[in-house]
Amino acid sequence: MNMNFRIQLEPMAKLARIGEINGYEAAGDAPHAEHTRPGCFTPAQPKPTRQERNAASLRRSIMKVATPRGPKPVLRTMMTTACERNCFYCPFRAGRSSAERLTLQPDELADGFTRMQKAGMVDGLFLSSGIIGGGVRAQDKIIDTAEILRKKQNYPGYIHLKIMPGSEYEQVRRSMQLADRVSINLEGATPGRLAGLAPQKEFWDDLMQRLLWTEQIRSRERVRASSVTQFVVGAVGDTDLELVSLSEKLYRQARLSRIYYSSFYPVPDTPFEDLPSASLKRQHRLYQASFLLRDYDWDTEDIGFGPDQNLRLDVDPKQAWADIYLRAAPIELNRADRPTLLRVPGIGPKSADRILRARRQSTLTDLQHLRALGVPSPQKAAPYVLLNGRQPVHQLSLFPVP
Ligand code: SF4
Repeated sequence: MNMNFRIQLEPMAKLARIGEINGYEAAGDAPHAEHTRPGCFTPAQPKPTRQERNAASLRRSIMKVATPRGPKPVLRTMMTTACERNCFYCPFRAGRSSAERLTLQPDELADGFTRMQKAGMVDGLFLSSGIIGGGVRAQDKIIDTAEILRKKQNYPGYIHLKIMPGSEYEQVRRSMQLADRVSINLEGATPGRLAGLAPQKEFWDDLMQRLLWTEQIRSRERVRASSVTQFVVGAVGDTDLELVSLSEKLYRQARLSRIYYSSFYPVPDTPFEDLPSASLKRQHRLYQASFLLRDYDWDTEDIGFGPDQNLRLDVDPKQAWADIYLRAAPIELNRADRPTLLRVPGIGPKSADRILRARRQSTLTDLQHLRALGVPSPQKAAPYVLLNGRQPVHQLSLFPVP
């Protein structure tokens, strides 16, 4: 393909091409259900036309995402796939000759998105960018696009904006006024891990400072945006203990609404191309631990780590804790307070509230009671609880619970 053709690509064709190559980052509230790795284009027919290929690529850039406004088809795209930085894991890193570089101006991107939105293809935008000319310049383009959508196109729907490393306080603030969600990806759990992943990013000044700004801005004025971050897991020796303990601080101090754990996947023609993929099971266990911190009031020290400072892969962290502390000393469901109920496998925040309400009316005596309350898996809770002084009958599982 010659350069002239690339320059002359229409906005929709550029969006389609970006959709074909941009598949790495989770965007919504159920990241484990999203497809975040690039796949090969699988044509419906042996020789798809360019139009068919573009349509398929465009579809690939639309993700069904669980947003704070409910599940939405979200266009996940970038202002540019060109970048002056050299993050070791990234398909868009500077100097990666096999990467196609495509750039959209704010009005082009806003126009393409609006066409897709009016055609009923999407109802949400997740906008990221490579960096050319510094983080401030890249952030300006992201903000300009959101301004066009909100002010000129009067788009009221879901927008998730990436905050570039090095962007200014006022840019973070404006992004938070325009978006439903902003993300600032820390990538590594410590400055040393980040240096191993992305040597040109500075952990405290470029990234963490901006995450803390988002909480400061929320505390000072009414802005709609929540904030999130992402870690690349398993490329540079990071441990789950590092990731979980930083996650706890971020939930408590920066009030992040979500933390994404993206298991490392080697991209050809990058310095990490020969590293092995990180385990998806590990990613899953990190999400489980993260939810315990965020939704169950657990602390890092409540979560068990092995001698290698990683979570067990064979059992979820809540069950691992309960096997140690609750099997020999089950808790009485008719008396336990909410935090204690939340320690029991199979009992989440909704189930705990239902149990608290129900026992004001009557005594809970068997698993059928719990089932009638809507507790989804009372059998899971059974080995760890007493109901009116007695351990409920439960079947021993022949297989480990995932
Ligand atoms: S700054 Fe972003 S786009 Fe650029 S190389 Fe790093 S991760 Fe990739």
